[in-house]
Amino acid sequence: MPELPEIESIKRDLQRALIGKKLTFVSIKNPEFILKNKIDSLKSILETKLLEIKRYGKYLIFLFEKEGILFHLGMTGFFLFFLPKIYKKYLILSLKFQNINLNYFDIRKFSKIKKIDKFNWRENKELKRLGKDALEIKEKEFKALIKNNKRCIKSFLLDQKVLAGLGNIYTDELLYRAKINPFKTTDSLSEEEIKKLFYEMKNLLKEAISLKGSSVKNFINVKGNKGKFQEKHMVYGKKGKECLRCGSLLIYKKINQRGTTFCPVCQAF
Ligand SMILES: [Zn+2]
Repeated sequence: MPELPEIESIKRDLQRALIGKKLTFVSIKNPEFILKNKIDSLKSILETKLLEIKRYGKYLIFLFEKEGILFHLGMTGFFLFFLPKIYKKYLILSLKFQNINLNYFDIRKFSKIKKIDKFNWRENKELKRLGKDALEIKEKEFKALIKNNKRCIKSFLLDQKVLAGLGNIYTDELLYRAKINPFKTTDSLSEEEIKKLFYEMKNLLKEAISLKGSSVKNFINVKGNKGKFQEKHMVYGKKGKECLRCGSLLIYKKINQRGTTFCPVCQAF
């Protein structure tokens, strides 16, 4: 599933190409999917300019002149500026922004598309239930959130209602970088650990965005290219491999049904 760095990379690529352009053509290629998402028509955005694209957590919000459209890419949603034959059967929407074609695909069909009020987009039901965005949150706010919680740190970081944007890849990588055991409870973390966690989170996200995210399984960006951050992964998907810092074998355990890989020595309880 694409997480904050992947969605942010998509946003930046789309922004560069599309901001200020008028939507001149829309074609719904998978009507059942669009209907399931409770969209009757997209006429209200036709012939209007795309003014801005926002990201909040793992959501993308397209703000047109009169209306907004929200996307959650689910497990396997993706945008492409072209239409490869092999993906044709997964095509949901085709949009044309003057001279640029944009296609939206979803392989497993878990994504969400919704029309929203452009002026109060943050008040939308989906976005309202989210916590602070992991890239935007300030150190003070992060500290307060941790202090007000009493649960294991891995579950805390994954909970979109508390902190929006992180998924399984970036929580595992973050806890490894911060040398914190994923089973540790938030109330047992020292001031030092909280501080380290906060700064490592910001650095991790910025680094991953600069490498256009991680391509595990099938993430590709709008030009069809893979991200490069998977090459920097140190624990995610590496159970049984040697820890790059100490050489111990990385172990894999489930925490609230989420697979978690960590080093039992560097991240001792
Ligand atoms: Zn280690």
